[in-house]
Amino acid sequence: MSLALERARMYVGGNWIGAGGGETVSVMNPATGETVGDVPDASRDDVWKAIDAAAKAFLTWAALPGLERGKILRRIFELMTERRDDLARLVTQENGKPFEEAKREVGFATGYFSWFAEEARRVYGEIVPPPVTGKRLWVLRQPIGVVGAITPWNFPATMVTRKIAPALAAGCTVVLKPASATPLTALALGRICEEAGLPAGVFNVVTGKRASVIGQAMLDHPAVRKIAFTGSTEIGKRLMAGASQQLKRVSFELGGNAPFIVFEDADLTAAADGAVGIKFLRVAGQSCICANRIYVQESVADRFVPMFIEKVKALKVAPGFEPGAQIGPLINTEILEKVDGLVQGAVRNGAYVSVGGKRLTDGALAKGLFYAPTVLTKTTEEMDVVKEEIFGPVAPVMTFNDETEVIQRANAATLGLAAYFYTQDVRRAIRVAEALEYGMVGVNDPTGYTHEIPFGGFKESGMGREGGHQGIEEYTEVKSISIGM
Ligand code: NAP
Repeated sequence: MSLALERARMYVGGNWIGAGGGETVSVMNPATGETVGDVPDASRDDVWKAIDAAAKAFLTWAALPGLERGKILRRIFELMTERRDDLARLVTQENGKPFEEAKREVGFATGYFSWFAEEARRVYGEIVPPPVTGKRLWVLRQPIGVVGAITPWNFPATMVTRKIAPALAAGCTVVLKPASATPLTALALGRICEEAGLPAGVFNVVTGKRASVIGQAMLDHPAVRKIAFTGSTEIGKRLMAGASQQLKRVSFELGGNAPFIVFEDADLTAAADGAVGIKFLRVAGQSCICANRIYVQESVADRFVPMFIEKVKALKVAPGFEPGAQIGPLINTEILEKVDGLVQGAVRNGAYVSVGGKRLTDGALAKGLFYAPTVLTKTTEEMDVVKEEIFGPVAPVMTFNDETEVIQRANAATLGLAAYFYTQDVRRAIRVAEALEYGMVGVNDPTGYTHEIPFGGFKESGMGREGGHQGIEEYTEVKSISIGM
């Protein structure tokens, strides 16, 4: 079965249908400006139709033993593995990221199905000793119901599977609204779910550019019991306010402003490689866990910073299908302008551009939205480029004097998703890891995050966790049963 859709269709109740009103919206490759597909532009009625289908399917899906649900999830894992390159091609076409990076993304996204296929049979309850004779107390975990899932464009496969795999494993059914920039990968996942034998209505994909209409339809429909959202903190807050009307459950993966700290006792080469990797080599810096501000201890700054700059200069910016491409385009003009605005604002306030600092338009880059990998020195915490989530290939570098000071500066942000630091002192490693107010901390390891551990943030970076054994619990309600004997 081809993953490409010949006509604009979305997946609702096991059928491939157009929007009720027939409207469509085009999907563009940000590396070339070319249209790569058209998808339906869903209305409120279309979304309600999908929710009704999910509510109907919930009755039988939730009743299936976890082991049986897990078998279907395992089949989805196998089909995704077989179709990895086809899926990665779609990711590169609609998101722009390098094809090799897209293949790694799809491989990682696929892993959520194998992890949660196994977790499906381990949604344990408890038997609690009663405080009086003649009673039995049980605590069960049951699937919440229909989940409205909303995902961003930076990881078109992973952001989807990290939600739907645990939701389906728990026995929930899902209506997914992927980002309007990257709906094709999500629709292809719908195809794979269908081929794997997932019953009609268990997973539905609605597409379109009217995000607030689709979101409101999910908030208004009484059958939707949970909103699972990944995206900006601003939209997360809006959805939380909306969800309060029916007290729908929420879990949010929101923005980040990750500090990356290099202590004087670090392996500086490893730290420079780590900084390049987590700043630039993830969707050109458009990831919530990208390093957003780099702190280098004053005593090693003259060794670390030049090494880091040399490594950044060597990065290859190119359209995603060009061999050796490492940095792709930014997703849209708005983000390109925002990134450039942050750089120019910092420069006006005294920052120095050590490399990059401008849009790239030469040769093959002319039609796309490419920005040069940039290192800014002489930056300060007063600058927006340090205060805000950059979401682009720009690294502001600052220095610090001691551990207490840098922890305080790192923790000053309102966001608390990921933080990184390098040291070879084991006591410092433990001290600093425990002191950082972040949901995920990488110690000499900027790529430690994986399926087996929970992903999520402190403070305004969200609530709830995805992945790990915690990931499936987010899709369950706890029920206490008291039995009089
Ligand atoms: P966004 O604007 O918040 O959009 C995310 C999703 O929400 C998209 O599907 C978007 O639809 C939809 N949306 C927008 N307005 C909505 C509304 N009023 N009601 C319901 N849905 C709405 O975020 P983005 O710019 O795409 O993504 C970047 C942000 O996501 C960054 O802040 C990043 O840190 C965060 N992020 C967090 C994680 C994490 O795991 N913590 C992972 C990835 C990204 P449209 O596409 O149609 O606008």
